[in-house]
Amino acid sequence: MPRKIAVYPGSFDPITFGHLDIINRGLMIFDSVIIAVARNSAKNSLFSIDERVELIREVLTGNGRAIVDTFDGLLIDYVLDKGATVIIRGLRAISDFEYEFQIAQMNRNISQEVETLFMMTSVPYSYLSSSIVKEVSSLNGPVEGLVPPAVKKALDAKFNR
Ligand code: ADP
Repeated sequence: MPRKIAVYPGSFDPITFGHLDIINRGLMIFDSVIIAVARNSAKNSLFSIDERVELIREVLTGNGRAIVDTFDGLLIDYVLDKGATVIIRGLRAISDFEYEFQIAQMNRNISQEVETLFMMTSVPYSYLSSSIVKEVSSLNGPVEGLVPPAVKKALDAKFNR
């Protein structure tokens, strides 16, 4: 049986329990999930690409089927290069839908060999995003329960605490 590999792309600036939930659920469906951190994201990031990768590795706690990597250029090229057939994306509020719909259609237009699989957020994480975590943490608000302890520590260090 060929191994089923999925790519879970994103900024992960930083990784949250919402991302981890999607990764763990992805691992129940696929043999392997590649967490692909985008290098060419237009967003201004708080953490460098190396810091983001390091944090993800730290919180995955040695699950061999979850692989952390970075990519730049066209996502579809990366996915095909890795021998993967599926892109996983998470959906939270309706506001995610329009953007995700557009990207998924475009990716399908580029390649019909790759399917985008949307996983609905788990209720406790439905309003959780890296942006809100950064905002709350920058104001010294509580982020326990939203991000793993290693990420909280890294946020504290970024905000000089
Ligand atoms: P991007 O910049 O590509 O949106 P993110 O790191 O913000 O990257 O998110 C990566 C993926 O994880 C996206 O599909 C996003 O919708 C999903 N995601 C982020 N937070 C959550 C959450 N709390 N629940 C479910 N999915 C989420």
